Amino acid sequence: MKRTISVVLVLCLAMGLCACASSGSGSSKKLVMATNAAFPPYESVEGNEIVGIDADIAKLIADDLGMELVIEDMAFDSIIAAVQTGKADIAMAGLTITEDRKQNINFSDPYTEAAQVILVKTTSSVQTPDDLEGLSIGVQIGTTGDIYAADIAGATIERYSKYFEAVNALLQDKIDAVIVDREPAKVFESENPDLKIIDDEFTVEEYAIGVAKENTELLDNINASLKKLKESGKIDEIIGKYIKAE
Ligand code: GLN
Repeated sequence: MKRTISVVLVLCLAMGLCACASSGSGSSKKLVMATNAAFPPYESVEGNEIVGIDADIAKLIADDLGMELVIEDMAFDSIIAAVQTGKADIAMAGLTITEDRKQNINFSDPYTEAAQVILVKTTSSVQTPDDLEGLSIGVQIGTTGDIYAADIAGATIERYSKYFEAVNALLQDKIDAVIVDREPAKVFESENPDLKIIDDEFTVEEYAIGVAKENTELLDNINASLKKLKESGKIDEIIGKYIKAE
C-alpha cells in the first residue's frame, strides 16, 4: 500500500500534477500570473513574449518581491479558477473589480481606472448606451461587458470566446454593437476604419490584481509593492508608455 502511494506520488510529481504555483521552496520563487494575452494594450503576444501594461507592472512587482515572473496565457473565463485552485498566484488581465468576483478571490488595491465602451460601425445610429435597447450585442464570455449587457432591455446577447470574434461579427453586420473595455476598443478602432467608439461610457470600472482568498500574505506584499510603484510614478510611466494621451 505504502509503495503504491509513493509510486503515485512520484508519477504525480513527475507529471507536474502536484505542482503548486508558488511553493516558496527552491532557489527561485515563481510568481505565476494568469492572463489572456489578447487584450492590448494590457497584454498581447509580441514574438514569443507577452507584453503590455499588466505584464510590465507584474514584472516590477515580482522584482520588488524577489520573485521570478511566469506568465500563463489562458481563456479569460478560466483565469479566476486558475487563481482559486492555485494553478496561478495572481490574475492580471485587465480584471475589473466586481462584488461577485470578490466572493471567489481577493483583489489588490486598484492600479488603474477603466471603462466599458460601445463599439459600433461608423454607419450606426447608436449614440448613447440607451440606444442599445432591443439590439443584438456582442461580448466576450465572462467579462463585465457580458455581465452588464444582461441589463439592457430587450437586447440579444451574443457571447464569443474572444473579443476579435465579436468584432468580426460586428464588421460583418451579424450584430449591432460590441461592449468591450475602452483601451482594447481603441486598438480595434484604430485597426478598422469602419468602427467607432460611442463617447458616452457604458460603465466606469477599476482594474486590480486577483489573489486567492487564503493567500493574504501575497496580497499584502502586492499592495505594498503597488503603493511604492504608484508613489514613484512607475505605474503612470508604464501606462503612458502604452496609452498615448489624446
Ligand atoms: N475588464 C473586463 C473584465 O474584467 C474584461 C477583461 C478582459 O477581457 N481581459 O471582465
